[in-house]
Amino acid sequence: MKTENVKVLIIGSGPAGYTAAIYVARAGLSPVLYTGGQPGGQLTITSDVENFPGYPQGIDGPQMMMDLQAQAERFGTSIRSGLVTKANFSGYPLKAIVDDEIEITAEAVIVATGASAKYLGLSGEQKFANKGVSACAVCDGFFFRGQEVAVVGAGDSAAEEATYLSKLCPKVYLIVRRDEMRASRIMQQRVLNNPKIEILWNTETEEILGETEVTGVRVRNNKTGAKRDIPVKGFFVAIGHQPNTQIFEGQLDMDEAGYILVNPGSTRTNVEGVFAVGDAADKVYRQAVTAAGTGCMGALDAERFLAARELEHAHA
Ligand code: NDP
Repeated sequence: MKTENVKVLIIGSGPAGYTAAIYVARAGLSPVLYTGGQPGGQLTITSDVENFPGYPQGIDGPQMMMDLQAQAERFGTSIRSGLVTKANFSGYPLKAIVDDEIEITAEAVIVATGASAKYLGLSGEQKFANKGVSACAVCDGFFFRGQEVAVVGAGDSAAEEATYLSKLCPKVYLIVRRDEMRASRIMQQRVLNNPKIEILWNTETEEILGETEVTGVRVRNNKTGAKRDIPVKGFFVAIGHQPNTQIFEGQLDMDEAGYILVNPGSTRTNVEGVFAVGDAADKVYRQAVTAAGTGCMGALDAERFLAARELEHAHA
């Protein structure tokens, strides 16, 4: 297997990974960044990003990621396509294998592998991506203001998305597959007390309707079998996210959902020299700007870690 030694390896190419790269590169540490399976990350499947500070007119998600990539490259980041398929953090230097072909040894690793929204698996979810189907109300809700929408899910995310959308839309259907919600009591109360939100209990989504954009959804009551079409322009899937951290299982400490645990107020993981940034370590905020912010933190933490090591070696 081909091997390569690098100083700082960055895994992932969302706002967290690219921001980390910009900082590490500007510190003269020549980072190597592997983009992963979805170069640019979740923002490449969004249309306009209107809540990233500094873009008063908004910016197209894929364009923003190209800009971040160009900025990281400008300062000397080596950006490579490839998927890190294995990691071995049991010794030092740290090791990662890319595409089962190249072994990278690194003095510091910044994990920025993000998370992926879960989908129901209906064909309409792909067909209408960016044309009425979304997994992020904060990102896309604004485009449906004044229109009726549906949210599927029954956890805190679904409750939060439904509540958020109710401020923009006259009617929000919340499609819940059981006769109770998993969301915390306070979030449930908020939904139950909101006159704009109608909960469809024991209901599953069968089909997303429309020709070129969403015009409705066909739902089925799983107790009675009764079907009905509800006319909505937006369909928000809020059934959870899956952090892309499987390859670090058993090496990096994680919570029960797979989010990497970091020391509070830092990006340090349980392994020295490994830093976790962005959605891979954040199940609460999950915004481009917070991911970029923690990407910056990860770069500074890595830089300080390497400087401290060098100092130790100089005195040794
Ligand atoms: P959860 O895993 O908590 O909930 C997922 C929900 O989606 C469940 O209610 C589940 O239904 C439903 N679901 C799953 N698959 C399907 C399907 N195929 N069809 C229909 N419904 C489905 O995910 P969340 O993203 O809501 O929350 C993740 C974590 O993040 C939680 O710990 C949550 O507390 C936290 N969070 C906190 C927030 C806050 O405090 N402000 C905001 C958002 C998230 P069922 O119940 O039947 O299994």
